[in-house]
Amino acid sequence: MGLLLKVFIPFLGLALAFYFYSAPKNFDEEMLRGKRVIVTGASSGIGEQMAYHLARMETHLLLTARTEARLQKVVQRCLELGAASASYVSGSMEDTTLPELVVKEAENNWGGLDMLILNHIGSSYFNYFNGDVEHVRKLLEINFLSYVAMTTSALPMLKESEGSIVVVSSFAGKTGIPLFAPYSATKFALDGFFSSLRQELIMDKVNVSITLCVLGYINTESAVRAISHVIQDTPAPKEECALEIVKSGALRQRELHYPPRALGILLLLRTIAPEALDSLIRSSYRMENIRR
Ligand code: NDP
Repeated sequence: MGLLLKVFIPFLGLALAFYFYSAPKNFDEEMLRGKRVIVTGASSGIGEQMAYHLARMETHLLLTARTEARLQKVVQRCLELGAASASYVSGSMEDTTLPELVVKEAENNWGGLDMLILNHIGSSYFNYFNGDVEHVRKLLEINFLSYVAMTTSALPMLKESEGSIVVVSSFAGKTGIPLFAPYSATKFALDGFFSSLRQELIMDKVNVSITLCVLGYINTESAVRAISHVIQDTPAPKEECALEIVKSGALRQRELHYPPRALGILLLLRTIAPEALDSLIRSSYRMENIRR
C-alpha cells in the first residue's frame, strides 16, 4: 500500500502538471485574422465549409480542387463573407506537378504562408477489395503523396512564419474499416508520415505544428451517397466539423477527434479491446445492401 502511494502520488502530480501545461488555449478568431491559408479539396464538403469559416475570420485564401466552376462560386462566396482575399488553382492531385504549383501560387500572391490545410481525397469505392492494385496506387498519389509533396514545398514558408499544417484524416486511418481498404490505407499512411515528421520538427526545434484530424461520419454529400445504404448512423454536421478543424489548427493541437464523444469511445476501445471494436464495426454494417 505504502509503495503504491509512493508511486501513485508523484505520478498523479506529474499527470496534473502535464495536463495544465498542455491544456489547450481558448480559440479566438483573432488568431486567424489576416493569415494566409491554403485549403485543398475546397470545392465541396468539409473543405468548402472550412473556406467559409476562414473567410468570416478575414483570412487570405487560396483554394484548390479539380472543378473550376465550383471553385469560382466558393471564391465568390468567400469574398462576400469577408475574406481578406480569395483565389483558386484548379487541377487534379493525380498530376504530380500540381502540389508545387499551388504552393508557388501562394508564394507569388503573398510572399509567405501561415497554414496549409490538406483535405482533398480522390474517389474510391465502398465494397470488398476488388484486386485493382492500380486504383490503390492512384489513390495513394492523390490522398497521400500529394500531401507529402505540398508539405515539402510549403515547409520553407511555414518555417519562416512558424505556421501550421492541418491533415484531414479519418477513423479509417486509425483502425481497419471493412469495404474501405484502399482509402483506409491512404489514411494510415498520413498518420505514419505526419506523426514522424512532427517528431522530427520538434527535435529540430522547428516551430511548425502538425494537427492530424481524425473524423467520424460527416454529412457531406459524397460520404452520405457512398455509405448510407450500409451504415445507418446519423452523420455529424459538416459545418461544425469544418469549424473544429480550423480551430484545432489555430490552437496547434496534436490531434482532433470529431465528433469527440463517439470518436473518444471508439479510439479507447481500439486500445483496450481491438477485437471487440472490429466485431462491433462488422455488426453495424447492413451487408444485405452490398452487391459485389
Ligand atoms: P468531398 O468528396 O465532399 O470533397 C472532396 C474534395 O476533394 C472536393 O473538393 C473534390 O473536388 C476534391 N477532389 C476530388 N478528387 C480530387 C483530385 N483528384 N485532385 C484534387 N482534388 C480532388 O469529401 P468530404 O468533404 O466528405 O471529405 C473531406 C475530408 O474529410 C477528406 O480528407 C475525407 O477523407 C475526410 N473525412 C470525411 C468523412 C465524411 O464522412 N465525410 C469521414 C472521415 C474523414 P473536385 O471533385 O472538384 O476535384
